[in-house]
Amino acid sequence: MGIALIWCLALILIKWITSKRRGAISYDSSDQTALYIRMLGDVRVRSRAGFETERRGSHPYIDFRIFHSNSEIEVSVSARNVRRLLSFQRYLRSSRFFRGITVPNSSNILDDDYNGQAKCMLEKVGNWNFDIFLFDRLTNGNSLVSLTFHLFNLHGLIEHFQLDTMKLRRFLVMVQEDYHSQNPYHNAVHAADVTQAMHCYLKEPKLSKSLTPWDVLLSLIAAATHDLDHPGVNQPFLIKTNHYLATLYKNTSVLENHHWRSAVGLLRESGLFAHMSLENRQLMESQIGDLILATDISQQNEYLSMFRSHLDRGDLCLENANHRHFILQMALKCADICNPCRTWELSKQWSEKVTEEFFHQGDIEKKYHLGVSPLCDRQTETIANIQIGFMTYLVEPLFGEWARFSNTRLSQTMLGHLGLNKASWKGVQREQSGSGDDVDPTFEEMDSDILPQEPRLS
Ligand SMILES: [Zn+2]
Repeated sequence: MGIALIWCLALILIKWITSKRRGAISYDSSDQTALYIRMLGDVRVRSRAGFETERRGSHPYIDFRIFHSNSEIEVSVSARNVRRLLSFQRYLRSSRFFRGITVPNSSNILDDDYNGQAKCMLEKVGNWNFDIFLFDRLTNGNSLVSLTFHLFNLHGLIEHFQLDTMKLRRFLVMVQEDYHSQNPYHNAVHAADVTQAMHCYLKEPKLSKSLTPWDVLLSLIAAATHDLDHPGVNQPFLIKTNHYLATLYKNTSVLENHHWRSAVGLLRESGLFAHMSLENRQLMESQIGDLILATDISQQNEYLSMFRSHLDRGDLCLENANHRHFILQMALKCADICNPCRTWELSKQWSEKVTEEFFHQGDIEKKYHLGVSPLCDRQTETIANIQIGFMTYLVEPLFGEWARFSNTRLSQTMLGHLGLNKASWKGVQREQSGSGDDVDPTFEEMDSDILPQEPRLS
């Protein structure tokens, strides 16, 4: 089938889907734009002859042509320069999946032994030392689908909200596929890890006794989708490269807005909650947005001072839906940056992965003379320095307050790992530099406009 024909079919499909959706939910213009962007953002434009493409498949598409010209090039999405529509590919892949047609590839076939071990692991899904990397291997890279489906079941959400399990699985498959497996850090395994951590927090006595099924539902969906379609570069990078998402979201919480809108797009596309009232669906979409937007690390000080004030005054009342919602925002923030609170074996792997992603961005910035962002220069930064700064300025303050709110064994375990991991990185730092007191001040400047999301581990 020719490219032009595929493009025409895709356009018809998009038009049909969106006109169908309009019948059910009224859009404001930004919603509509965001949803078009989500679908069309999957479109990658063909690079011009002689132009070097970025091989890592950065997506949402980053047009590297802008670095090769003095004048701004208009990126027109036309039948001629469209190479492929990834959403369309996803449809084909998913439909093959649901028709039971598997690509002849032995790596897709798991024997019963692996399935048995994965099931066995799920019995301990509430343990803080749950090894998500092992679980991902045992599920053949389907940790996010398997884990989230299991948690929906465990929390009784399928029954309570009368969810169609096929639609639920389809939704989760789409979510998992919209994460970029090429990203060393911001991929579906990170999303699965955050969802598992969120589940641990939801089980904490203070929360579990007051949470409603609705709260649990939103928390799990927000955790699973909170980094959806993450391009593997941070907000300053999108701003300085004039990325369309930075323009669309006016340089504010650009990634988080995109993750949220992408999640909304998939929720609507899957029809998972089509049986609910329009009012409830709209409420769900906006509350999921509040949760995801809270993961913008550049806003951490605002959330933290609010949390601190509530704790000082002792006025948090979890019977109050607004207070519960605020605590869920704090819980998701904790889940998102809980890597340093895991065991050293798990924590170290995350540290290596996130640094790899930072350094990859730094490499691109160097290559295209964009000015290397803080923490992204592999010549001057080390994992140990980055981690110690991250722990000191972001993780310790957040988890300190969380332990004041929920002083349980889990909180103490997390703080214990945090202390041990920091000491381990300090040991590494001493070995590398001969001194041991370097704390990267970059993290202290989190509120500055220069560095809104630099150490973003979300
Ligand atoms: Zn995240």
